[in-house]
Amino acid sequence: MRCAAVLIALALASPAGAQPPVLLKPDRVFDGTEAAPHAGWVVLVDGKTTAAGKIDAAKILAVGPPDQVTVPKDARVVELPGTTLLPGLIDAHSHLLLHPYDEVPWDEQVLKEPLAERICRAAVHAKANLLSGFTTLRDLGTEGAGFADVGVKAAVEKGVIPGPRLLVTTRAIVATGSYAPRGFAPEWKLPQGAEEADGTTLRGVVRAQVLAGADWIKVYADTPHGPGGKVRPAFTLDELKLIVATAKDAGTLVCAHATSKEGMTRAALAGVATIEHGTDGDIEVFRLMANRGVALCPTLAADEAMARYAGWKRGTAEPPRLRSKRAAMKAAVEAGVTIVNGSDVGVFAHGDAARELELLVEYGLTPARALRAATGDAARVLQLDATLGAVRPGRLADLIAVEGDPTADVGALRRVRFVMKGGTVYKAP
Ligand SMILES: [Zn+2]
Repeated sequence: MRCAAVLIALALASPAGAQPPVLLKPDRVFDGTEAAPHAGWVVLVDGKTTAAGKIDAAKILAVGPPDQVTVPKDARVVELPGTTLLPGLIDAHSHLLLHPYDEVPWDEQVLKEPLAERICRAAVHAKANLLSGFTTLRDLGTEGAGFADVGVKAAVEKGVIPGPRLLVTTRAIVATGSYAPRGFAPEWKLPQGAEEADGTTLRGVVRAQVLAGADWIKVYADTPHGPGGKVRPAFTLDELKLIVATAKDAGTLVCAHATSKEGMTRAALAGVATIEHGTDGDIEVFRLMANRGVALCPTLAADEAMARYAGWKRGTAEPPRLRSKRAAMKAAVEAGVTIVNGSDVGVFAHGDAARELELLVEYGLTPARALRAATGDAARVLQLDATLGAVRPGRLADLIAVEGDPTADVGALRRVRFVMKGGTVYKAP
């Protein structure tokens, strides 16, 4: 009887599972689209609802100086002294189904780790990314783990595991014989880290991936293949155009892995939305990208990690690949290409994705611009800007607070004190 009375009281206080609004009080707010933070601003967030199908869906109600934000009497106040509040970070190039290659080489992950192990790892990786401030990931390929990303995304959306919002690409597409694992006896047909397709069969593969749940289509426009293992174009321009056209009809966009000038040029001409890596791009191809509105995910942190795995140490002379990357970034910025934060996390440790933002600053962006590459600019390029990427009324309440001011010192992103996704608090001081 006593229990029943308590339940009735709770029901009266919180009709339909709704909770009171939350007032967040950091030292300052960086809104995700501007150059400087606003000192003393507060943010009012709608109470989260526990109704079915409404996980992480609470929105921002108001933002501004305290005297301009009307706070309901029952609002719960969260004090965040010493912090900057900003939109939850977006990483547009992740691999939840991979872990660092210095732990287990890529070939062994793809060929020897059971699918169930890889999915369990992905769940752990999802949580690590969320708690380090990344509330949205575009996951660019399961690397041999089939359609596992679709299920991981569903588990996050249903509240089964904590994780970022996910845009998934499923298997990704490679030209026959252009990807990996490679280098085995020719009589063996090994499973590949992505789906092989060529010519007109590309249509069916794009459609099957969309049917399986792909939000984006990923294609490898160039890879090391052929004599000497040089990076060469993998698809013809017509093949890339066919992929883009088929994806577009299905309401999805295409991103292209491309490191060579020719691969990048074909991808840009074919109409992809983003190019991944761009390591050997020059001013000419970056101007083409800028003119066609193709954004770049530089994946600086992955290149740095690969150099480390090959024996390079920070502070010593950089290997050619990193020098090339620096030149490419300089040219991309000069050409006016939109830079989107995309780290290739998975190549290096999940939870460490802020490394990309540190490197964006080291490679020449201001901290505020690097932050926009992971918030407002990323949301716009990923076509999520109606709901994410800014601290504005009506957007989803994906908000993080970091100790210090990341627009002055990007290293503040290493001190994440508060993580909210759609009104649900995943980390609090
Ligand atoms: Zn990648």
